Amino acid sequence: MPRRQASGRAGAAATVIEVLEPATEEVLREIPRAGARETDEAVARARGAFPGWRAVEPEERSATLHALADAIESEREPLATLEARNAGKPINDARAEMEMVVDCFRYYAAAPQRMLGDTIPVAGGIDMTFREPLGIVGLITPWNFPLTIASWKVAPALAAGNTVVLKPAELTPLTALELERVARKAGLPDGVLNVVAGPGSECGQRLVEHPDVAKVAFTGSTEVGRRIAEAAAGTIKRVTLELGGKSANVVFADADLEAAARDAPAAVFGNAGQDCCARSRVLVERTVLDRFMELMEETVDAMAVGDPLSEVTAMGPLISANQRETVSAYVEDGAPVAIRGRAPTGPGFWFPPTVLCPVSNDDRAAREEIFGPVACVIPFEGEEEAVRIANDTIYGLSGSIWTRDGARALRVARALDTGALSINSNTSVRVSTPFGGFKQSGVGRELGPHALDAYTEVKNVFYSVPR
Ligand code: NDP
Repeated sequence: MPRRQASGRAGAAATVIEVLEPATEEVLREIPRAGARETDEAVARARGAFPGWRAVEPEERSATLHALADAIESEREPLATLEARNAGKPINDARAEMEMVVDCFRYYAAAPQRMLGDTIPVAGGIDMTFREPLGIVGLITPWNFPLTIASWKVAPALAAGNTVVLKPAELTPLTALELERVARKAGLPDGVLNVVAGPGSECGQRLVEHPDVAKVAFTGSTEVGRRIAEAAAGTIKRVTLELGGKSANVVFADADLEAAARDAPAAVFGNAGQDCCARSRVLVERTVLDRFMELMEETVDAMAVGDPLSEVTAMGPLISANQRETVSAYVEDGAPVAIRGRAPTGPGFWFPPTVLCPVSNDDRAAREEIFGPVACVIPFEGEEEAVRIANDTIYGLSGSIWTRDGARALRVARALDTGALSINSNTSVRVSTPFGGFKQSGVGRELGPHALDAYTEVKNVFYSVPR
């Protein structure tokens, strides 16, 4: 019998958030619950800290961010354990995520000395551009990759000279609060990074509406993203949005089928499918469909689903009872379940890895982001149909192409309306390369050199030089 969700959801009068462990449904920790007042206070601290932080010399800002990366690295294992318990993710995945957090701070630690401008030839003088910080930025992050996604936003925002108010998801606020503590220890000046742990409808909304917040960077559902874009219009805030996905994993008959089928399950069931990059539509050329399904079944059968803290676990529970209910609705009686893996019974928000086949791209399971371990296998005939089906979605975040034909791989990659693609691989996210979506998967890019554009304004200065 599921216990409570974060009790901050119980009503505006609640003063604490009970943070649950999804694998046990037990309370992991109780924390104070922030609301609009605490958000205003955090914005005021960030406003107070901004003039000092933007004036820090590039070398010194860089050194502080390196110190922060070092401090996180020294606490990597306890942070990974905390994340694994709070988000229900396998410990080895959590360790890899903490490595990425460290890498992300190191990557952007180099940015303050590389914030280059242009000089532009003009008549009568010298024209130059500068990249200026925006001011106070509000960062709103989800529960699926809590500290990782926070780092993608915090690191470039700070590197560019902004001060930050970070609002983590109420279900998984613990590592963000740890980051605030570690940052203080590493020497980040007071008020530069502020964390408010409270509900999106109060703290998140306040950040979006606050007149002193210059920009909001959000990762989460397309529905909330749409609301944020609307509300941000009131103060013409800059907005970047990383939203949902329904990405296609396109497997042509000439692919290395063993490799494609071996890797396809992890590309959907990783993080229990709660991944905006999940390749949850597996498009398989009809002539190899039967063989592909045989191979995929072997991998799904071998997947260890269970205790996030076990070294052998490949998939943990879903984040919450609500999420399990949502996911279950896509696998009701009559759903074409072709493969179903195993999952524990008893306490915990468990759901077995599930493959539906054959699915039409018009079916609800193929159109909506399920955000759980449910893959839809969709047969196709020929390259043209593959591209048409892959693009027939409101989303456009990531995707894969499996083929041994290099020309086809590039032709299809150019034809797909999606932001982060991989060929003969299912990886889309690297610290040094841009990440973000086409269509309703979002606006703007994170990571790589491009993220800095989203945390700066271009200023043009003309200097008259009389002859
Ligand atoms: P949300 O979009 O509701 O949550 C993401 C973040 O936004 C959380 O920090 C949340 O706070 C905050 N938030 C919620 N409402 C507002 C608001 N009105 N103003 C400002 N911030 C707000 O995602 P859910 O947790 O509800 O998940 C629902 C679905 O969203 C999933 O099933 C999945 O499809 C999608 N999703 C996609 C993600 C992605 O990586 N692209 C990540 C997470 C979810 P809080 O939760 O504390 O109230």
